[in-house]
Amino acid sequence: MQRIVVLAGGIGGARFLLGLKQTAPDAEITVIGNTGDDIHLFGLKVCPDLDTVMYTLGGGIHDEQGWGRSEETFTVKEELAAYGVGPSWFGLGDRDFATHIVRTQMISAGYPLSAVTEALCRRWQPGVRLLPMTDDRVETHVLVDDPEAEGGSGQRAVHFQEYWVRMRAEAPARAVVPIGADQAAPAPGVLEAIGAADVVLFPPSNPVVSVGTILAVPGVREAIADAGVPVVGLSPIVGGAPVRGMADRMLAAIGVETTAAAVALHYGSGLLDGWLVDSTDAEAVAEVEAAGVRCRAVPLMMSDADATARMAAQALELAAEVSG
Ligand code: GDP
Ligand code: CA
Repeated sequence: MQRIVVLAGGIGGARFLLGLKQTAPDAEITVIGNTGDDIHLFGLKVCPDLDTVMYTLGGGIHDEQGWGRSEETFTVKEELAAYGVGPSWFGLGDRDFATHIVRTQMISAGYPLSAVTEALCRRWQPGVRLLPMTDDRVETHVLVDDPEAEGGSGQRAVHFQEYWVRMRAEAPARAVVPIGADQAAPAPGVLEAIGAADVVLFPPSNPVVSVGTILAVPGVREAIADAGVPVVGLSPIVGGAPVRGMADRMLAAIGVETTAAAVALHYGSGLLDGWLVDSTDAEAVAEVEAAGVRCRAVPLMMSDADATARMAAQALELAAEVSG
């Protein structure tokens, strides 16, 4: 049986995983999920990326939106607003609230996030082993310009969700900092899964605030580089732009061009063995290969389940090629 480890953010990671499950129904898939997007709201711990993966694979996702629950209602949010209690910019529905209540209750009772995630997955049966990257608190913050900032620095740090959701990433990001990552330990099972993997995949997730944050947990990058198994990624950048979202803002903050080739070079040949770019980016292949990473141009739009399954199959084929 093939053991596959996938480093996943939210929507891009979750949709890719649906395709991977279709392509490799017998594989044992371990997902290492990003928790840098986590936020405390109304006293509750919300883990947007873990939940997006769990709901998507468990059949509870709001399909068109790509996040949150299907058949959702917003009564609690309206009632909170009637009390004047915010923030109102983060969309939490009634069904979703229940997940965060269960999670927060278990954490208050002393369970680590990894155990809580496992418990939540008992209901959703995602068909993969979903592990948070760490049980420790990591929060991605974004540095933005603010002429009125206290202390005259001219900048202020905002939580990633505030930057992404409330500010819609309109202000340039000057830096992206995964607060707490340097002190975090990989969650139980993370290094073991990497060590036992036959292949490691980077789905088309955000290279900075999803995959980048997971790689910032001490030990994870090293474990992947030292695993001695093929590491293959799929570009989230197509034709010089993110397929959805504002990943270009995050890439600019770390000085990486928004191209399929630049993202591969950013990961580097020390980490990546293979890289898939979209057919429209075929000119990137030579540049990526010159950097020592095997590269193929194939359709990379996750427009439906079959197209996504073909992408996953191509990634596994490239993995077999680089290891053979
Ligand atoms: P988030 O946490 O919800 O932002 O999700 P991820 O980090 O997993 O994925 C976001 C990335 O997925 C974005 O940078 C998008 O460009 C990329 N993405 C979304 N849909 C597609 C697609 O159909 N094809 C490709 N190649 N990338 C995609
Ligand atoms: Ca995310």
